[in-house]
Amino acid sequence: MYSGVNASDGIGIGVASVAIEPDLTYTPRKIEDTEAEAARYAAARDSFMEMTNKQIANMQAKGLEKEAGILNAHNEFAEDDGIIDSVTMAIAEGMCAEQAVDNAYTMYYDMFSQMEDELFRERAADIADVRTGLLAALLGKDLVDLSTLPENSVVVVGELTPSMTADIDKDHVVAIVTETGGRTSHAAIICRAMEIPAVLSVEGATKNIKSGDLVVVDGSKGDVVVDPSDKELETYREAARKFAEDKAALEAFRGQPSVTADGKEVLIVANIGNPSDANGAKEHDAEGVGLFRSEFLFMDSQELPKEEDQFAAYQKVALIMKDQPVIIRTLDVGGDKEIPYMDLPKEENPFLGYRAIRYCLDHPEEYKVQLRALLRASAHGDVKIMVPLVTCIDEIRQVKALVEECKKELDAEGIKYNPDIEIGTMVETPAASLIADVLAAECDFFSIGTNDLIGYTMCADRGQDKVAYLYNPYQPAVLRSLQRIIGEGVKAGIMVGMCGEAAADPLMVPVLLSFGLTEFSVSAPSILRTRRTVSRWTIEEADALVEKIMKLKTSAEVRAALQAAAR
Ligand code: PEP
Ligand code: MG
Repeated sequence: MYSGVNASDGIGIGVASVAIEPDLTYTPRKIEDTEAEAARYAAARDSFMEMTNKQIANMQAKGLEKEAGILNAHNEFAEDDGIIDSVTMAIAEGMCAEQAVDNAYTMYYDMFSQMEDELFRERAADIADVRTGLLAALLGKDLVDLSTLPENSVVVVGELTPSMTADIDKDHVVAIVTETGGRTSHAAIICRAMEIPAVLSVEGATKNIKSGDLVVVDGSKGDVVVDPSDKELETYREAARKFAEDKAALEAFRGQPSVTADGKEVLIVANIGNPSDANGAKEHDAEGVGLFRSEFLFMDSQELPKEEDQFAAYQKVALIMKDQPVIIRTLDVGGDKEIPYMDLPKEENPFLGYRAIRYCLDHPEEYKVQLRALLRASAHGDVKIMVPLVTCIDEIRQVKALVEECKKELDAEGIKYNPDIEIGTMVETPAASLIADVLAAECDFFSIGTNDLIGYTMCADRGQDKVAYLYNPYQPAVLRSLQRIIGEGVKAGIMVGMCGEAAADPLMVPVLLSFGLTEFSVSAPSILRTRRTVSRWTIEEADALVEKIMKLKTSAEVRAALQAAAR
């Protein structure tokens, strides 16, 4: 059995089809007719973009708007003025087009792949994809074609590039195995969107697995079994049946209110990263957006996005969600979210440094661009503003003062907005938890960011394997913090939600219900499952469970008690 990253849930059983990538080696040579060589490069670009446009149309036809967006980025990398200039300059000096393209894209690839932020590192894969596409066009080679695979195929490939996925026939591919890529890679995002089970980063997969092998891929656990025994096969078939049954059973919760067994209503909303994700949220029956991570707009841009561009993005989400609530978090830059053109200083402790609301309040003119765009979008739906990384009340007061300034400006310009727009705090620091009473008195809502709250409370970086045993929501310190935050919010009569990953943890649902949480913001595919878990508990039962677990002293005991009670 091989193990890798569990990137997309489900079990696929089928016949391996190992995708052999074409040989794109070339011999560098000195060019005399540099004009003809430049024309050859231009023709390769045209043919690459024509192929990409076809793939974009394919994606759109499958309803995969977001994935089509990734391919759009390929065309942008092919057309990038800076890259074109460096390739044409090298050709003008006598370098062959293959080498000029290879050098230029490799330079960008190296730059992106060395960035600290995982999202930027993942973009390096797009750059490599464009390099491969242009080289193939120059050398007249065909790229891996996944559009004509037989039924029940398990695709095994070194790297699953966005352009390859565009061709995948969802009805014929039962699973995917790759040698590279993490959970947030585009390959992973696309596999999840297509609901194809996938295990990524399986070392040596294309060598150890042969075309024609019978393969089982458990995308939920991250396991790949080649040539399974009859017994293994039966076990996995049974697990696949259960998975399919469970998924079908969840459909019963579509269109239903989110309500506990004794009738307490809550909201189950979606976390999104870019405007088109709102379509996915709708498809999965979200009752709103509980967290729009606006920094993705900033990351996808080469400079600070203009008010008009930000407005268009926020308005798009508001219009897709109609009258449902849409909580948009203002820029959460720094820490693990690097934005190169913002030139933040290198720090010893970036998670404790100049980031998020601290940076924004230090750049009020830049911040007001975002606040104005948010206010303008509030004329088109139930848009709310959320402030990240709050540690003291002054920060909320300053944000409110800037919002008031923006309102005055918009009044003077005769531009519409919602004068009662809600402003809330993302509670993700121990400081915010400790002053939850003070914050609740001056905020319209709370949304708890457990991803950071757990890290800051336990002083444990979520990316650091050696301290992973400390990083979980079952820690008594974290539970006490959550109880306090939710309790203070409820006492003050404001809405308290949670947008950290813990909101989607079925073990945590009864605990959060008992504490008084009324909004669960989860990734779109977790919506129906969370609604079902909520429906299986009464508040009285959840209270009894909480009474028991709050007396326990270790996270292992808490987890065991929650597991024993799980529904
Ligand atoms: C969080 O910290 O829980 C959160 C939702 O924000 P992010 O993961 O973007 O830091
Ligand atoms: Mg956070």
